[in-house]
Amino acid sequence: MDGTTGTVIINPSESVVDVYRKRQEKYADYGKALFHYKDLSCETTDGRRVRLMGNMEIAEEIDSLIEHGAEGIGLYRTEYLYLNRKDLPTEEEHIRAYKQLVKRMSPHPAIIRTLDIGGDKSIGGIDMGKEINPALGLRAIRYCLKNVEIFKTQLRGILRASASGKIKVMFPMISGIDEIRRAKAVLEEAKAELKAEGRPFDAGIEIGVMIEVPSAAIIADMIVKEVDFISIGTNDLLQYSLAIDRVNEHVAYLYEPFHPAVLRIIKTVADAANKAGVSVGVCGEMAGEPEYALILLGFGVQVLSMNAFSILRVKRLIRSVSHAEAKKICKTIIGIATAKEVEHYITSKLPGLYKEEFWS
Ligand code: PEP
Ligand code: MG
Repeated sequence: MDGTTGTVIINPSESVVDVYRKRQEKYADYGKALFHYKDLSCETTDGRRVRLMGNMEIAEEIDSLIEHGAEGIGLYRTEYLYLNRKDLPTEEEHIRAYKQLVKRMSPHPAIIRTLDIGGDKSIGGIDMGKEINPALGLRAIRYCLKNVEIFKTQLRGILRASASGKIKVMFPMISGIDEIRRAKAVLEEAKAELKAEGRPFDAGIEIGVMIEVPSAAIIADMIVKEVDFISIGTNDLLQYSLAIDRVNEHVAYLYEPFHPAVLRIIKTVADAANKAGVSVGVCGEMAGEPEYALILLGFGVQVLSMNAFSILRVKRLIRSVSHAEAKKICKTIIGIATAKEVEHYITSKLPGLYKEEFWS
């Protein structure tokens, strides 16, 4: 099984096994060589700092993220606390999970995303009913605002854990300002309750939202006035802006991160955040691929959050380019009409910069 390409070869011949053994060795050497970058600062040749953070779903991933030098958790997909059970996690369970996380990551921050149920993510303890278009249905923040008690239990857990370390809270699938204000109002209610109960929490906890719905991207200049940070969820942003079901293999060929519309949207969002002086990150899969990280850097994204294995590959890329060069590349690609031409341009511009050595 070749995990780098998603290929399974049934009954491989001796010679195929031989080829793969050699590749496996190269792959292991490649991984080891990347550790050279672990303790080096993540900055471009002209001194632009980029923070590389980790995406996580379960506690078992924390060790690997630390080992690969993650500067905090940029996305904790908390849905996994709700999986494989028939009931819902209690406030105490939330606290335990988040406390364990911040203690391990300290002094780095951990961004905890509130429940992102629905669409491609279903949970045993919650019956979502049948929806004709679940990706456009009662998902994520929409579900939480309709089921405030479930939402508030999680928010209380996040707040109470924030007394133990640097935690930020992030709302998924925001489509407009009203949703942000309503979510913040529930957070305020949770804070007031905890205050009345005499329980400690970080009163100034930073609030962020995911930008993964085109409507939110288009009004990013207004959204950044409501929050402390934003994080672009490119997985869903591509799904919604290109009208491609992210789990439908028949349309996967249309899922193009270099699509000019995607590039323009990301630029719009990053420009709005930078203009307002609000931190802008990317926590979708694009952040962890060096060729995309290069353009995110050029568009002015300051935080990239990804899985453990991608961290050192992306750091190597960032340390090998200048911010000025990345900006210049972005200036050119924003005028290119197709994803294929963008890719071709970047490959020709930077031959060998991001291709995987172990594969050659
Ligand atoms: C995203 O949509 O890009 C994202 C990071 O969230 P998820 O993949 O969990 O939907
Ligand atoms: Mg998403």
